[in-house]
Amino acid sequence: MGFEESILFKFLNGEDPGEIPVIATGTGLAARIAGRSAASLRDNGAALAEVMSMFQKEAKLDWTIVYTDALAIPETLGVEVELSPISGAIGKPMKIPDDPVLSPKPLRSSPATRATLEAVEILSKKKTTCPIAVTFEGPLTTSINTFDANDLIMAIYRRPLVVKSIISQMTDILCSFAEEIRRAGASVFYIPDPFSSMDTLSPKHYKEFAGPYVSNLISHIHDLGAKAILHICGQTDQIWDYMAETGADTLSLDQIMSLQKAREHFGPEVRLAGNVDPIRTLWEGSVEEVRDETMSCIEDAGPRSLIIMPGCAVPTQTDIKNLRAMSETAKGYSYS
Ligand SMILES: [Zn+2]
Repeated sequence: MGFEESILFKFLNGEDPGEIPVIATGTGLAARIAGRSAASLRDNGAALAEVMSMFQKEAKLDWTIVYTDALAIPETLGVEVELSPISGAIGKPMKIPDDPVLSPKPLRSSPATRATLEAVEILSKKKTTCPIAVTFEGPLTTSINTFDANDLIMAIYRRPLVVKSIISQMTDILCSFAEEIRRAGASVFYIPDPFSSMDTLSPKHYKEFAGPYVSNLISHIHDLGAKAILHICGQTDQIWDYMAETGADTLSLDQIMSLQKAREHFGPEVRLAGNVDPIRTLWEGSVEEVRDETMSCIEDAGPRSLIIMPGCAVPTQTDIKNLRAMSETAKGYSYS
């Protein structure tokens, strides 16, 4: 069976998959259940593939998600990365030059991008029933992870053209990464763009510094024959229409947003993903609470045009039993 026949890909393609797809991200948790640290995966494609494959099986997910950390691309641009077994990868952001020219190292010569590509190649050789997905952050967030966050946010006001040049070049770099990932065998891209949330950026600035670049990236992903899910953390209701304009095949919302309001806003056709609370419910809650909240998400958004997933990445210390309970509840729901 090819990835086109998988539940998730059918859903993202606008077909009826016959059941509610379930996905989740959480490299720290995936590594922990395999007895490793997330930091140990970023230069080891074989271990990354094994850990992510185990995570898919243990949590009963409809994708095998490959992700090291948010510094994979910034590192190719010169950000120095330190590894800590507890906090994972920590980067030293660079100063914004006056006339920035971003020239990344080849993706195969930087540890985390190489491990990502190798893991996808290894996974694509297996006879797997679920698609391989890869995560990388959106152009604005990747730019903020490359350059100092405060500097870049300030530069939006003081040097907007420089910022636009950076984000535009970053979009091209992410398009090249997407091409290599697609060639290696992945068919779904999960794009979190936390810094484009209304918590950090005004809707006006979203429209100027985030949305159009994400849209270009997603259009390129579509040209490659792949699908894209856009996730923005925190408050997003005033940018929902801009999120939809990016052309993303599904919009993934944070747990603080109401799926019911989102469904009312978007109508029945727009595909949504969310939003079981990864902290209060999946990490701190009981199996019973996980089941209840998963059912609430299904009732709020309606069972069709919905992917059940946590509202953001799942904390490392989460009991895998809880994540499995989320999957089983969604899979046990019959809408046919
Ligand atoms: Zn998030």
